[in-house]
Amino acid sequence: MKAARFYKPDAPLKVEQVPEPKAGPNEVLVNIKACGICRGDVQRHHGQIKVPLSPMILGHEPAGIIAEIGSDVDTELKAGDPVAVVAVGCGQCYYCRTGRDNLCDAIPLGLGIARDGCYAEYAVASPRQLFKIPDNVPLEAGAIMAGPTGTAFHAINMAEAILGDTVVLFGAGCLGTQALQLLKMKGITTIMVDIADGKLEIARQFGADHVINSRRENPVAKVKELTDGYGAYAAIEFIGLPQTLLQAIDCLRKGGRVIDVGSVTEPFEISLAPFTDRGLALTKEVSLMTITHFKISEAQTLMRILAAGKLDFETGTAHVALDEINRGLQIKETSQEYFRVLVHP
Ligand SMILES: [Zn+2]
Ligand SMILES: [Zn+2]
Repeated sequence: MKAARFYKPDAPLKVEQVPEPKAGPNEVLVNIKACGICRGDVQRHHGQIKVPLSPMILGHEPAGIIAEIGSDVDTELKAGDPVAVVAVGCGQCYYCRTGRDNLCDAIPLGLGIARDGCYAEYAVASPRQLFKIPDNVPLEAGAIMAGPTGTAFHAINMAEAILGDTVVLFGAGCLGTQALQLLKMKGITTIMVDIADGKLEIARQFGADHVINSRRENPVAKVKELTDGYGAYAAIEFIGLPQTLLQAIDCLRKGGRVIDVGSVTEPFEISLAPFTDRGLALTKEVSLMTITHFKISEAQTLMRILAAGKLDFETGTAHVALDEINRGLQIKETSQEYFRVLVHP
């Protein structure tokens, strides 16, 4: 089969023929039809995230068609079914058994992260990873759910905003616009912050109540102004810069929470000292939360939300063939027009 393999940082991925994987008795063979290019894949390509094998097939946000089901698999799924392939926990460990399966140690060992992934015509998965894509939903939506929508959904669930709350989103990209649409379904007032007018315009189309271009306006002052001086209940940071994470903290009201999704990669200082400008301790009681991945229950709920047809997956999406994967990585890294890229093996 054809696959795109990583050899070493900054070298183009090599599209080449490799042996087709075989499904064991407890596994399912999936014919991959779409796989998202994640920002993490761009970072892997540049060596900012270590790729454990060389060569290795990357790609961890896939959807496809079931090609073959192992002889011992007990499932209602059948060959020909369209499925999203989601990284799920082991089902056995402390985290999996206490409802926090997104924290399971098995998740970072998944397809395209620690072993061969899905920039390929076929991949083998465990039946627990497969979520049938509803008939009325395009297969591509399953791939986007398996990555960005799942993470965005987990982030807004961690924010626990309720009707009447205001949530600020930093970054109108792939995850930010999915989070925005989900928050609007909950009736939450949303403020989107970005530096690109085009992306802010898309956010407006998706129902953002306010947009702020932080090149032109101070987002902290503007959020305060829009919330009667109190600040927002929660801020979700999708960009991964120290400066935007600090702005996210500063635009909160007392008792608010910041959800860090963007993962700031460079070291930065944050003082918790009371009675300073930022003054987090004693005076503000804010929560700073990091998040990782999403739960199997959230994936299940998302399939129902997808079936309701209320989420837009097409706006801002670029599509490339497997042969064009290096162009896809380039688009993901630099494009102003597209914030999401799907590879079609
Ligand atoms: Zn990812
Ligand atoms: Zn587990």
